[in-house]
Amino acid sequence: MDAVTRLLADLVAIPSVNPMGRGLSGPGFLEGRLSDYLEGWFRALGVEIERQTVSPGRDNLIARYESPGSRRTLLFDAHQDTVPTDGMTIDPFSPELRDGRLYGRGSCDVKGGMAAMLTAFARLVRERPAGSASVIMACTVDEEFTHTGSSRLADGNHGADLAIVAEPTLLKIVDRHKGAVRWKVRTRGVACHSSTPGLGDNAIYTMARVVSALAEYAGELSRSTPDPVLGPPSLSVGRIEGGISANVVPDWCEVDIDRRVIPGERASDGPGKALAFLRERLGDLKRVEFLPPWVSMPPLVPDRSAPFLPALRSAIARVGGATPEVIGVPYGTDAGPLGEAGLPCVVFGPGDIARAHTKDEWIELDQVRLASEMYFEIARELG
Ligand SMILES: [Zn+2]
Repeated sequence: MDAVTRLLADLVAIPSVNPMGRGLSGPGFLEGRLSDYLEGWFRALGVEIERQTVSPGRDNLIARYESPGSRRTLLFDAHQDTVPTDGMTIDPFSPELRDGRLYGRGSCDVKGGMAAMLTAFARLVRERPAGSASVIMACTVDEEFTHTGSSRLADGNHGADLAIVAEPTLLKIVDRHKGAVRWKVRTRGVACHSSTPGLGDNAIYTMARVVSALAEYAGELSRSTPDPVLGPPSLSVGRIEGGISANVVPDWCEVDIDRRVIPGERASDGPGKALAFLRERLGDLKRVEFLPPWVSMPPLVPDRSAPFLPALRSAIARVGGATPEVIGVPYGTDAGPLGEAGLPCVVFGPGDIARAHTKDEWIELDQVRLASEMYFEIARELG
């Protein structure tokens, strides 16, 4: 087994499940065990490692390779957490090698990309190639839920010129993606016996008017000016809950809203704009409450990374034999918060996003090996 495969198998075998706000806990949850392993790995390589605490038991790991005489510094970013394992048809934490693939939770998203980045980083440390860029290797927490790890990482000035964020992009360069903001809307009413509904105020009826106005707003967004690659912004009501039983007029109802933003929009503006639309359509909103968003994820805007694309593409082409495509993707990544803090960012990594979060998640090992060489070559090219 080659070094990158062995490392990937180790990473997959250590659970680092993000509870995704469900209040789950236990040894398989959160990133702590994986962070301990990674800290040991960096120490064995002989590099200093900083543990940046994001929340209790959740640390970003940050290591640095100083290249002698380098003009630029790259930030390599890979997240430590995975989504949960509900409904998986394979043993999530017993990595299995079959048909040139490695199976297991996180193999594709994004421990494959992390193993490739780490082996490229280790090679830089050992070989110290002349003229290469300096590299900061960051292993973040909580990418899959609220991006607190990359937001914390973005707070510090690490002196990086460009961030490369690992996600399964099939070795294509992603220079833009959508952002997202998610929040709850609650309606209030007055409960009473359902045999005399006129004595109460039905919160579900109020919510029905809110939801149909939101559907109208979603239609308006879908016809608004699109991003040339990503299309228009969107809004979707994804969950509804309210009332306690058929014989009680309900005094509350709640919906969850997912609003996707495109480059040029701010995620944090999403709720306010929706509220303004509701106010215009429905007038009185006294019984309607917008709760603070639990996710507010900036989009990745392409302009800052554009000057780096020619060098990135030629470094990748030298390894892969073909010039990589530059694409946009609909999902959010760590590049959102890093980019919003002013750092040019691209997303690039091995594996197919269609295999991420699946019941039998796997990654093609040839892609992981290629990615490792490509990350190394990118560091040399951009030095
Ligand atoms: Zn990911």
